[in-house]
Amino acid sequence: MAARIIDGKAAAQAVLAQVRTAASAFTATKGRPPGLAVVLVGEDPASQVYVRNKSREAEAAGFRSEQHSLAAATTEAALLALVGKLNADPGIDGILVQLPLPKTIDTERVLMAVDPAKDVDGFHPINVGLLGTGATAKALVPCTPAGSLILIESVLGPSLAAKNAVVVGRSNIVGKPIAQLLLQRDATVTIAHSRTADLAAVCRQADVLIAAVGRPEMIRGDWVKDGAVVIDVGINRIPAPEKGEGKTRLVGDVATAEAAERASAITPVPGGVGPMTIALLMANTVAAAHLREGLPRPTFSA
Ligand code: NAP
Repeated sequence: MAARIIDGKAAAQAVLAQVRTAASAFTATKGRPPGLAVVLVGEDPASQVYVRNKSREAEAAGFRSEQHSLAAATTEAALLALVGKLNADPGIDGILVQLPLPKTIDTERVLMAVDPAKDVDGFHPINVGLLGTGATAKALVPCTPAGSLILIESVLGPSLAAKNAVVVGRSNIVGKPIAQLLLQRDATVTIAHSRTADLAAVCRQADVLIAAVGRPEMIRGDWVKDGAVVIDVGINRIPAPEKGEGKTRLVGDVATAEAAERASAITPVPGGVGPMTIALLMANTVAAAHLREGLPRPTFSA
């Protein structure tokens, strides 16, 4: 079987078009646009690119977009003061503190300080708890898991009843929240990790296989059940001497070409889950704006 390649870029564009529509209706109703503040501490080049892209996307969505770039030497107290100011600003609906933070700052304390109603990354324990108890209508769900679910839905529809889902990886930002979302769609969910015995055999049970490991092409073709839907969250940079000395390329956690011979649908890397993450940040911001103002929450699909 030759797998359908799930086009994450097209799906992200579809979500962003729905975000723009929801944002413009919100602006017309409330007399102000949704507001997103992105906070960057330090000069990490990758983080600078991510933050710039997020601010640009927020402007394109019709949001009020604020970028706060603080020096690497910023104290935790100063960062907490900024978060407090953004929490109190009625025109800001979403606050994103770009990670990683400098080692001198207690990341957990900063993430806990963000108003849960503005926590568009979905990392605050209140949002984690809402997701865990199934109160997803009120929760702000982490962007990568929410985007992955939309891609799965685009292939299998909204119900995953009677499907076996295997999530490889149990991080708080990817593996665990994806598992919660799949459970809520009635999948039978297994969470595998570095201490799982015979991972290949576990993966072979999966009708829906999610890889969120951070190990280049670890999941081989013969780990994939015939007809499975494979979502590759991994983003790994590996040497690519074939492109020239010192060159690199991005690969996922799945050996895509091998897996595509068995899967019914698979996300590529790049161009799969990656573009969905930023689209879902915009979706979370417009959703947070609606929730904060007591308006019905918009929903998004590919
Ligand atoms: P993480 O916090 O490092 O977690 C990795 C998970 O993989 C852990 O639960 C770990 O198990 C498990 N693992 C490691 N080696 C394993 C092995 N040999 N067999 C089975 N499980 C193994 O990583 P993360 O933040 O979840 O990110 C995972 C990947 O997704 C990374 O490549 C990251 O770059 C990518 N990512 C992509 C996006 C996107 O926008 N597409 C967003 C976020 C992350 P233990 O818990 O037992 O250690």
